[in-house]
Amino acid sequence: VAETPAPLPDAAAPEVTVKVSSRDRVIFPESNVTKGELADYYAAVSGIMLPWTGNRPVSLVRCPQGRARACFFQKHDAGSFGEQVHQVPIREKDGSTENYLYVDSADGLVACVQMGTIEFHGWGSKIDDLEKPDRLVFDLDPDEGLDFEDTKKAAEHLKTQLAELGLVSFPLLSGGKGVHVVVPLTPEAEWPAVKDFADRFARALASAEPDRFVAVMTKAKRVGKIFIDYLRNQRGSTAIMPYSARARAGAPVAAPVSWTELRDIDTAAKWSVRDAAELIARVGSPALKGWGIADQVLPDL
Ligand code: ATP
Ligand code: MN
Ligand code: MN
Repeated sequence: VAETPAPLPDAAAPEVTVKVSSRDRVIFPESNVTKGELADYYAAVSGIMLPWTGNRPVSLVRCPQGRARACFFQKHDAGSFGEQVHQVPIREKDGSTENYLYVDSADGLVACVQMGTIEFHGWGSKIDDLEKPDRLVFDLDPDEGLDFEDTKKAAEHLKTQLAELGLVSFPLLSGGKGVHVVVPLTPEAEWPAVKDFADRFARALASAEPDRFVAVMTKAKRVGKIFIDYLRNQRGSTAIMPYSARARAGAPVAAPVSWTELRDIDTAAKWSVRDAAELIARVGSPALKGWGIADQVLPDL
């Protein structure tokens, strides 16, 4: 006798207890995405977002009046977000200690949205091993005038060069203009060594192809080139987290893709907060299997 299978837990709707006020407030005027929709988006993707973002110090882009009004970047807080958003004391450069934020649940993500958060940016290390990064990230910033095709080619180039050093990497659509090349690391080397590697690697690419790449911040030197922003790889720096929404027109999100998929993608803002179901379904696809996972350490450079 065939038994009726037990209903599967609804993965798209984890239990959220945090109350969201003003659910109908429009946060993204260009596409009428409301605060309630944004909260529901984060609750829905929490299961695919937290494996990477959870237990990592995060900085928030908060836009309490919506993305088109004043936004601010928040690194510290001593508890005003409620008990679902946790604090971790971290020593600053000047020797003082500040409370940074981290989340580890759908409630934590939603509590941040309740406080006006749109974007989640994360450190390159987790709270249980703060001094040892578990990822490198190269943020590729194309100068205005370059198109996404150039950015994709640049990302592929980094992938190839990293592979020659024995490092596996993964592309992340930023949800904005560029692509981030993410290199998972087994936490072993500390920040100064990791930053030094990123610095040398970026400079080597720029000096090999000075017409195409630049590794220094100076805006004037970037004209017509792709800036390889390696400075995301220093202690205290952050980068946009996979599945974070962006405070940009249309409510795009940062999204992991495979190298093969990237070839046929023509914008870094391919998915939006209205695509939660598709993003969740994609994680089970062969293309994304193992994204961001590799047991590897930095070689000497
Ligand atoms: P794009 O693809 O459009 O360049 P992005 O995420 O790379 O998107 P930004 O939003 O400009 O670009 O952010 C660049 C980096 O600087 C981010 O990784 C972020 O963590 C960090 N950042 C952004 N705003 C601030 C700020 N006010 N203070 C410190 N760091 C910031
Ligand atoms: Mn960028
Ligand atoms: Mn940048």
